[in-house]
Amino acid sequence: MCGIVGYIGHREAYPIIIEGLKRLEYRGYDSAGIALYDGTNLKVSKTKGKVADLEQRVADEISTNANLGIGHTRWATHGIPNDLNAHPHYSNSGNLVIIHNGIIENYDSLRKELISRGYTFKSETDTEVLINLIEDVKIKEDVKLGKAVQIALNQVVGAYSIAVFDKTKPGEIVIARLGSPLAVGIGENEFFIASDASPFIEYTKNAVYLEDEEMAIIRAGKDIKIRKIKDDSLVDPYVQELQMNLEQIEKGGYDHFMLKEIFEQPNAIKDTYRGRLLAKKGIIKMSGVDDNIEKFLNANRIVIVACGTSWHAGLVAEYIFEDLARIPVEVEYASEFRYRNPVITNKDVVIAISQSGETADTLAAIKLAKANGAFVFGVCNVVGSSIARETNAGAYTHAGPEIGVASTKAFTTQITVLSLIALKLAKAKGAISNSDYRYHLQELELIPEKVTKALTSDTHIKAVADTYKEARNCLYLGRGYNFPVALEGALKLKEISYIHAEGYPAAEMKHGPIALIDEQMPVIVIATKKGHYDKVVSNIQEIKSRKGKIIGIVTEGDTHVKELADHVIEVPETLEPLSPLLTTIPLQLLSYHIAVMLGKNVDQPRNLAKSVTVE
Ligand code: GLU
Repeated sequence: MCGIVGYIGHREAYPIIIEGLKRLEYRGYDSAGIALYDGTNLKVSKTKGKVADLEQRVADEISTNANLGIGHTRWATHGIPNDLNAHPHYSNSGNLVIIHNGIIENYDSLRKELISRGYTFKSETDTEVLINLIEDVKIKEDVKLGKAVQIALNQVVGAYSIAVFDKTKPGEIVIARLGSPLAVGIGENEFFIASDASPFIEYTKNAVYLEDEEMAIIRAGKDIKIRKIKDDSLVDPYVQELQMNLEQIEKGGYDHFMLKEIFEQPNAIKDTYRGRLLAKKGIIKMSGVDDNIEKFLNANRIVIVACGTSWHAGLVAEYIFEDLARIPVEVEYASEFRYRNPVITNKDVVIAISQSGETADTLAAIKLAKANGAFVFGVCNVVGSSIARETNAGAYTHAGPEIGVASTKAFTTQITVLSLIALKLAKAKGAISNSDYRYHLQELELIPEKVTKALTSDTHIKAVADTYKEARNCLYLGRGYNFPVALEGALKLKEISYIHAEGYPAAEMKHGPIALIDEQMPVIVIATKKGHYDKVVSNIQEIKSRKGKIIGIVTEGDTHVKELADHVIEVPETLEPLSPLLTTIPLQLLSYHIAVMLGKNVDQPRNLAKSVTVE
């Protein structure tokens, strides 16, 4: 779960790699390092901390016109974040250099074996074990680097994407992938290597995505040769044209990516339903569903697998699928599902949700579901990602790159896609009346402008944030469709402000959390008009009787909750199934402002990384 970048060609490698690392820093940011090779001199610099710290160090240590280089921004799995454990790592001879994203699970036995043969280790990482294993194979078998990498990887258990070069053989980088993404940008006599395409987007729009269990030998000014790691068979490179542009991945005037992404939601949601939702005609077009409609309609149930925020989107989907389409739904944490021997058959449809499309647990859950005969449908944001490739069919959210670690527009666009699917199935099953169906379509089409309206409360929300920024605990309550929103609101606050927060179904409060309420405790209650309003109002009374501080998320024009609550934040009115698309907005902004006021690193919160490609 880190970012890797490499370059080989005719340009100076350093600026490409350092810029690339900055764009990939969302993937990991506890240490960073770079290796530059001009064919004679090898310069390596690495440090605990951010890419900016590396830049500072490089300015002191390195001056080179190298045309080959690799760089890494780390999210530690083996060994604490420090200079020694930072990548790149060398082999004992000092000839082989590696950067690695992932985990070598059998590193301990390999390490012991290598130590028994005289190898020594400077770091605690699994990565240093791998590079020495490669060196050991290279020497023992007397083979070139590519072959040595291949043989070594066949002895490895775990997940990786790696880039390796050999000082004694300038002009060549060997890369490989299993379970972590790796893209190669193809330029004119030059190649760019990266965990995603953002580091090379301004240089080339042509990219090859390595598949799992593939490796490639890339030669300066020559070609890229892709092979299967297991059987050495050659693979024809499939060159894709990239759609993203540079502006999409820069901050565009906002202080943080997270804020930019919150404000992008009206357009992101529009992009999600564009071409799919034809409200006036009463049509929803989604080829992934259209082509497999029988599978959905004949399914005994839908099982949704996801992690984190995507799991919350799955919970919202459970309500909407059951409510509108009358299809039974179960929502599972992918990490539990994959290991608990679930009962899955070919009568099940499994929907896997993941922003990055690389979430390791979700990928494993997909493989398990497929092996049991289920039809697996993916909902992800990153085009060409592993989940997109691994599933039988799917729908992209088209939200554009999400860089802030705390997911925002991915959540609302996932709900948009899932709502489209639910409405489509409801119609196909005859579970919804035609007029109701049409009404939902029209309302969904209006959501972007209502999100824009909800965003106008930003200044007011900032003032509320200021009042509660010192809180140590927070409670989020919601019912029905807005229970998952309460969970998501609490998660956002925890992730970026490090304030402890809990999300609960409002009625469950009486069964425990009510004991926590006192005059210090802010309670955020989602109390929109259509969602069991009277019941929620009773819950608000209960909190008030215990002197809790109430922040109500209410429908525009509400007067009742206003009288009871300490603060209210209004969102426009919509149909209940679509209300999470609006009630989420103030909760995102509240967390954002509190975190900024507390001086936290909003886009790169501690201990987290954007795409969790390790289990
Ligand atoms: N397992 C390696 C380490 O701990 C790589 C982690 C990563 O993907 O950043 O250094």
